[in-house]
Amino acid sequence: MSLTSRFVTHEVENQPVPLRDYNVWETDTALREAVAREGADWAGEHLAEYGALAGGRLVDAGFQANENRPKLRAFDRYGRRIDEVEFHPAYHELMAEAMKYGMNGFAWRNANRAGAHVARAAVMYVGSQADAGVGCPMSMTHAAIPALRHNPALADKWVPKLISTEYDPRSVPMEQKKGCTIGMGMTEKQGGSDVRANTTRAIRQADGSYELVGHKWFFSAPMCDAHLVLAQAQGGLSCFLVPRFRPDGSRNAVEIQRLKDKLGDWSNASSEVEFQGAFGELVGEEGRGVATIIEMVALTRLDCMTGSASQMRQALVQALHHAGQRMAFGKLLIDQPLMRNVLADLALESEAAIALTLRVARAIDGASRDAHEAALARIATAIGKYWICKRTPPFVNEAQECLGGIGYVEETMMPRLYRQAPLNSIWEGSGNIQCLDVLRALAREPETREALFAELAAAGGRDRHYDAALARLPCLLEDAATLEYRSRAVVERTALLLQAAVLLRAGQEEIAAAFCRSRLAGEHGLAFGTLGPDAPVALLIGRAMATAA
Ligand SMILES: Cc1cc2nc3c(=O)[nH]c(=O)nc-3n(C[C@H](O)[C@H](O)[C@H](O)COP(=O)(O)OP(=O)(O)OC[C@H]3O[C@@H](n4cnc5c(N)ncnc54)[C@H](O)[C@@H]3O)c2cc1C
Repeated sequence: MSLTSRFVTHEVENQPVPLRDYNVWETDTALREAVAREGADWAGEHLAEYGALAGGRLVDAGFQANENRPKLRAFDRYGRRIDEVEFHPAYHELMAEAMKYGMNGFAWRNANRAGAHVARAAVMYVGSQADAGVGCPMSMTHAAIPALRHNPALADKWVPKLISTEYDPRSVPMEQKKGCTIGMGMTEKQGGSDVRANTTRAIRQADGSYELVGHKWFFSAPMCDAHLVLAQAQGGLSCFLVPRFRPDGSRNAVEIQRLKDKLGDWSNASSEVEFQGAFGELVGEEGRGVATIIEMVALTRLDCMTGSASQMRQALVQALHHAGQRMAFGKLLIDQPLMRNVLADLALESEAAIALTLRVARAIDGASRDAHEAALARIATAIGKYWICKRTPPFVNEAQECLGGIGYVEETMMPRLYRQAPLNSIWEGSGNIQCLDVLRALAREPETREALFAELAAAGGRDRHYDAALARLPCLLEDAATLEYRSRAVVERTALLLQAAVLLRAGQEEIAAAFCRSRLAGEHGLAFGTLGPDAPVALLIGRAMATAA
């Protein structure tokens, strides 16, 4: 026996090969069906191109961008303030591809086509699976456009650059750039959900611009070329565009105090800032700040649904890939009956998540032409944001567990997905805030109740569990005295009905029936993996696992 062979300890066996070089779009049956159903089939080729990158080279970029977190460079070497954030080249690569494929601008560049918001949501769903960290600046840039249009002169100047396909990370005035990004500053130390508590002041100057003095406690993507910021003007809380550079080309007085040391979302930077007489321009009217910025928030909330659905899908893909290659007790995990229950249940949840997300995206698409779609978009965004984001952390945890111990190790994507999972339910209005928003819409905008019930009724007569659950919904909305206290239960139920409604109308009858039985008729436990014996397990896994070969 040679010396070398004497010390050979073992051969690596029964370990999957890393999932790499698959097409995130082409292998996702539920996504492709939903995109076609909601009117954006025309974007297929575009999505296939981005899908190849998101399952290929960008996977590595995602790992690198998270291993090398952004650093604040507050000063240059001689002590002058520069307030720069330094990102790893991999993050720039992710951003460049995100802009090229239109996570920022695709909906606006295709605004004359039906399904533009659906297609753009699919772009985000696909691209975020490589890494979710670009989602924040891309979402804010996309979502800022309607708010910005309240100041047509500013919109003329900024919108072409915000919807550009060219990423330009240079810290120079926007006039010198082909592509720009934009963020949002609402949250202050004394109150985030309650933005009326904002104390940042905006003082009108003789030339019509404003000088902002105050702070923001959360200010994500501080490298953006501008932020939409809420501040108190003489007429009340107002919305301002605060660029990184003043019109004379000097650096604007927005000091980055520090970067947040976040649980997850590591590739992206979030910061605390102070405005020390920062230059700002009014967007919308004084005193109408919330009404103005809420148009941005409506779109970022849809993106929270999209982002969370995308995290679920990527976690499921990883779980399926692993289970398809790992043996235990003489069988592949994917052939073990109990594991099949877990995987099928996750696949069902994932299908429901993307189905509802793209239905809401279509409502946003149709909102300007169709009153039903506008009212549905208003209420279903809050409902979907609450529920899909709320489901993501336990979903990702369950998918992680499918990998066993390696799912807890940073070399797999699972710890990153797990850290990212809670974020969408916290920002852009936390869970309770979404529930209160649903109640506000129902109380103040009666057309939202009509749209919701019309949407749910249109799926009636196909499934007895669904019909029974729908018949009980009006009772849940009674008793105004306890409604706020009960609103999580009500919104959860409504979200499940909406998801069921989309699935029922989608034509995959067995899948819709399984959803109704498990989610509406109580034939399901509190954990995933508790589907009943008649669930279409093979169908669910087969549809979901096209990547796992
Ligand atoms: C990583 C990260 C990045 C962020 N980036 C940005 C950014 O770029 N720009 C920005 O403006 N903000 C940003 N935020 C802030 C985020 O939007 C807020 O943290 C969030 O809106 C909650 O506000 P808060 O932290 O002040 O909590 P609070 O408003 O104090 O809320 C705390 C909890 O109380 C609940 N609550 C509040 N009011 C009620 C009520 N009436 N009834 C029942 N429950 C209630 C909330 O749902 C929440 O669960 C970011 C946050 C994170 C974590």
